[in-house]
Amino acid sequence: MRKYEFWFVVGSQSLYGPEVLATVAERSAEMAAKLSEVLPYPLVYKVTAKSNKEIADVIREANYDENCAGVITWCHTFSPSKMWINGFANLQKPYCHFATQYNQEIPNEEIDMDFMNLNQSAHGDREHGFITARLRMQRKVVAGYWQDEEVQQRLGDWMKAAVGVAVSRDMKVMRFGDNMREVAVTEGDKVEAQMQLGWQVNTWPVGQLVETMNAVTEAEIDALMADYTASYDMATDDIETVRYQARAEIAIKKMMDAEGCMAFSNTFQDLYGMKQLPGLASQHLMALGYGYGGEGDWKVSALTAIMKAMGEGGNGASAFMEDYTYHLAKGSEYSLGAHMLEVCPSLAGDKPRIEVHELGIGDREAPARLVFEGKAGKAVVATLIDMGGRFRLIVQDVECVKPIMTMPNLPVARVMWKAEPSLATGLECWILAGGAHHSVLSYDVSAGQLRDWARMMDVEFVHINRDTTPEKLEEQLFLMDLAWKLK
Ligand code: MN
Repeated sequence: MRKYEFWFVVGSQSLYGPEVLATVAERSAEMAAKLSEVLPYPLVYKVTAKSNKEIADVIREANYDENCAGVITWCHTFSPSKMWINGFANLQKPYCHFATQYNQEIPNEEIDMDFMNLNQSAHGDREHGFITARLRMQRKVVAGYWQDEEVQQRLGDWMKAAVGVAVSRDMKVMRFGDNMREVAVTEGDKVEAQMQLGWQVNTWPVGQLVETMNAVTEAEIDALMADYTASYDMATDDIETVRYQARAEIAIKKMMDAEGCMAFSNTFQDLYGMKQLPGLASQHLMALGYGYGGEGDWKVSALTAIMKAMGEGGNGASAFMEDYTYHLAKGSEYSLGAHMLEVCPSLAGDKPRIEVHELGIGDREAPARLVFEGKAGKAVVATLIDMGGRFRLIVQDVECVKPIMTMPNLPVARVMWKAEPSLATGLECWILAGGAHHSVLSYDVSAGQLRDWARMMDVEFVHINRDTTPEKLEEQLFLMDLAWKLK
């Protein structure tokens, strides 16, 4: 990953004289330095802007700087906003208006008109907000005292969403084979995806993967096997089968890295020349931060990679997931999520075991895979669908639990969750919105961050939460459909 940073641009004007401006600059630098210690990415103080040219210059620089993942502005004083128009009109990076104030309290004895002139964010930030509203700018507004933990958390959450935008605009997806025959939801307009989301989605022949696999050396496989045994329990004697997965993983990684791809998809219907469907191979690649989608689902693959990058430490607990089956006992209703093989071990609540089992689908040899239970905790599931002319991101709040049964004969990783507002109503909403059976399950990316990401990418956003009803959602979907047709 790039060394992402955010730029802090502080609004003012020349009216106040050099002394006030020097104080503003000094305090802004201090705030950026202190905030950088607690925020997930550095906040770099750039300029106290006093003119149209200074603003246009810094915005132009921000647009061209590959490490700059967003611009955060604030007005310590009043900053007449007509001088921001030309700069803002050209801004191509995510933008956040941080409405804050240097001092936390009004100093009873000290306050006089000099203090008022220096500390008038309440005044300046409103002028600033007007012009961004008038320009119809896509923006995040975070308000509150800059040393308040909750405020810092909100700013940090937005930063991660903005990094998701940068990662999206750089995203390259390697497809091995097409998507599964006859499936609708894994289809999509790849040209539209590139225009809207920046994704370069292209295909490479499975035969080239097989050739690359054949060229992998035993020493390379030994090294990866050492990683496997360090991280997982080797719960099989069939080491040759595990080594075959290592061979596949090394080859897929080589091909992706050669192209700069951060995500891939494959399908059990196109494994020509391969002995096993990649299971452990895909799972360990996901653990390294690569996105993956089964059955040729390039949309969920790219979204997985983006959400991983948005998560903790730039590779969080987000993973390709599939809704499989339900537990519908009254009062104890759960969804069981899994996949044929490919569930990322970043979700694991226990130490994953490497096991080898037959796989009825795909007509290949029994593949090695990681088997584990997903951890308990609040999470979201997110799915991106192509509505024709636009994409819709559907996010549902869920609560993952330790699976309520052991399922000893189920040979795959599994996650169990309670959906909001309830299994049945949540399901009705998901189906009304057209949500796929494939999704990204995440423990560390919130619905709020995905909302920010969707806004920044200009993607329709649907959030199914404890307050959602099918009636309200139907109305929202109807109105959104009209709005997006007018856009
Ligand atoms: Mn699937």
